[in-house]
Amino acid sequence: MGLVLAKALAASGIEVDVYESKRNVSEGSEKASGIISKIGLERIGVEYKRSIVNELRGAILHSEDKRLKIKSKGTKAYVIDRGKYVEECASEAKRDGAKIYANTRFSPNDVIRLGDQYDVIVGADGAVSTVAKTFAFPPMSSYVLTYKAEYSGADVGETDVVDLFFDNALMHNFFGWSVPYGHDIVELGLGVDSTFRKNSKEVFDKFVKKPEIAEMLKSSKMVSGHASLIPLETRRKTVIGNVLLVGDAAGQTKATTGGGIVFGSGCASIAADSIIKYLNRGVPLSGYEHAWRKKYGFEMFLHKKIHNLYSSSSPARMDRIFGVVKALGGEKFLGSYGDMDRPSIMLKRLIFRGLIGD
Ligand SMILES: Cc1cc2nc3c(=O)[nH]c(=O)nc-3n(C[C@H](O)[C@H](O)[C@H](O)COP(=O)(O)OP(=O)(O)OC[C@H]3O[C@@H](n4cnc5c(N)ncnc54)[C@H](O)[C@@H]3O)c2cc1C
Repeated sequence: MGLVLAKALAASGIEVDVYESKRNVSEGSEKASGIISKIGLERIGVEYKRSIVNELRGAILHSEDKRLKIKSKGTKAYVIDRGKYVEECASEAKRDGAKIYANTRFSPNDVIRLGDQYDVIVGADGAVSTVAKTFAFPPMSSYVLTYKAEYSGADVGETDVVDLFFDNALMHNFFGWSVPYGHDIVELGLGVDSTFRKNSKEVFDKFVKKPEIAEMLKSSKMVSGHASLIPLETRRKTVIGNVLLVGDAAGQTKATTGGGIVFGSGCASIAADSIIKYLNRGVPLSGYEHAWRKKYGFEMFLHKKIHNLYSSSSPARMDRIFGVVKALGGEKFLGSYGDMDRPSIMLKRLIFRGLIGD
């Protein structure tokens, strides 16, 4: 998110320095997946076409005994190569004048020193943010621990849908996923609520033994595997003095899926506007806090509510919920009106349908 912000600031003629601890900006991108809604990617404004790995039209949701197939007519989302995408972000930011210093890990002392040197500091340093810790931002306590791996030589069925597996007995309070990259390459992953103190790799090893997954992987080879974490709640405060937080550092993710690129990038654009107003006209930076919560707060709240519903459901209850959704025509409805970023769109449509019928 730091690069999206840097690009917006540099394009407005503001001097920006970006510090990245890794040897290059794309190192470590393989720890996360790259499913992003088509509309969300277009709004971010960074060229993404060269990063596309696959196009998705829907999802198959699995409970223990039931399946919901939600498929739309056109492309809803892309699987992107995160490394290529972040390199593109960096080159656009540099082209607009931002300076990027790789291989530069800052410690709390460095952050304090930088605080004196710059007019504004932005912590876009991920879920375990050094900037947030240094400036005593309120902590976040809700996380999922993830593990994801890529397999080649897999027997992938439909290549334009992701499979999501809800099984609270195994993936406590989160879910597992299977994302096709093509006919024989697939990514498998899962998250586990951090409060369960489970090792995500150990849970993953059980997950890939599920019969349908074991069948898909039977002639495959694991190419890579990574553990990471995703914050599932926003920080209570994201501005203190001249210090702002964006992206995972601020907890700007969707609690349903852990996706953070669309909301995080949207918040980075809002942060850029606030910084520009602050530097040019002295408008307080606290406007950022108000503006991003106004734009995304309600959607984040709905994501949290949906997350609470599936995370508190036993496998048997999930079967019952899936049965009811299916019986009420939910697959067709979600295929037509489902929006992976904005649940409010579905809610409005549902209320509208309830009031006037189909
Ligand atoms: C398994 C997994 C799957 C995911 N799948 C998706 C998905 O499909 N779609 C989606 O939208 N989102 C997904 N996400 C979430 C998404 O990856 C994050 O929301 C997004 O990367 C957040 O970006 P960020 O810039 O805020 O933080 P990060 O991507 O964590 O970037 C922070 C950067 O700061 C650097 N840094 C950290 N500390 C320091 C320091 N002290 N000094 C200097 N540099 C530092 C890091 O090296 C890193 O480059 C997934 C996450 C995981 C873990």
